[in-house]
Amino acid sequence: MIYLDYQATTPLAPEARDAMLPWLAGPEAMGFANPHSPHRPGRAAAAAVEVAREQVAALLPPGGRVIFTGSATEALNLAVFGRKARQVAVSNIEHAAVLDSVQASGARLRMLEAGGDGIVRPDTAIDPGTDLVAVMQVNNEIGTIQPVAELARAAHAAGALFLCDAVQGAGKLAPPESADMIALSAHKLHGPKGIGALWVRDGIALSPLIHGGGQEQGLRSGTLSPALCAGFGAAAALAKARMAGDAAHVAALWKIARKALSGWTLNGSDRQRWQGNLNLRRDGLDVARLMSDLRDVAFSAGSACASGSGRPSHVLRAIGLSERQAKSSIRIGFGRYTVAGELEDACARIDAAAAVQGV
Ligand code: PLP
Repeated sequence: MIYLDYQATTPLAPEARDAMLPWLAGPEAMGFANPHSPHRPGRAAAAAVEVAREQVAALLPPGGRVIFTGSATEALNLAVFGRKARQVAVSNIEHAAVLDSVQASGARLRMLEAGGDGIVRPDTAIDPGTDLVAVMQVNNEIGTIQPVAELARAAHAAGALFLCDAVQGAGKLAPPESADMIALSAHKLHGPKGIGALWVRDGIALSPLIHGGGQEQGLRSGTLSPALCAGFGAAAALAKARMAGDAAHVAALWKIARKALSGWTLNGSDRQRWQGNLNLRRDGLDVARLMSDLRDVAFSAGSACASGSGRPSHVLRAIGLSERQAKSSIRIGFGRYTVAGELEDACARIDAAAAVQGV
């Protein structure tokens, strides 16, 4: 099996796995202790959580705090509901975790439109009276990098806070320095599933989404998992150390894949993008048939969250593709552990299988 679905999730880094194991050990090792307990094993677990918090914080701007959550989806819900915003502006290519939570919050919603290149214009005006603006750092479906510094400036000029979903950019790009809140997910940066984080700039007040024991500075009650925190922290530290090397590897892979699939049309800008995301279309392509012809290549027909719904991707529709074009698009995602030869082979097979369809 060749894994080419890095936007859906990434392989767990061996270093992250190793960091988790002491906190999953059996009864004699005491790694199971509750990190909120005051006894010695509890304090050891709490110390591991705090090390992890520092490691995650090192990927983020200075001057804020990291709140661990169960996922980036939860972090984004905490940001949206926690601010009780009445008027929110979001890009029309946001992940459902932002779009649906804003909708559910009952706030007045204004869409900021991306252009045909999959990028929200940096000079987009923000309506007066807006409390919160949310634009992602890197789009999960087409990989385009958004001008978040400019958009944060526009949000601030209108008196709004800026929330950045940095799930697909964290550990790969410099953090969105001017954001007020930033959401991350461990499993998108070679950490474990089941943990995310919301970074909140100092001085910004939030109400909790989950009530109970008052953990996570009162913002997210519930017992933390030291194993998940330690895995997230180790993955974050590794991503920081390897950022330049990972980007160079991905740039080389991008060239290989683009060459092998030169007859396909790229969705979204080819310059302002994370190169580990290749979203391509071939008019008339039957993607379901392509996937069933290539069962040992794991790639995506769109965003993992939307796939299976039968609905064409809202992102591809937002950048001007027809329903048919959107449905004839595939997403190939690669990264740190992708081997060049495997990618080349998989792309050649994808190309050949499309050719058999006569498209
Ligand atoms: N935001 C973006 C851009 C994503 O790609 C995803 C995951 O697909 C999420 C949010 C949700 O992340 P999680 O799986 O941690 O809830």
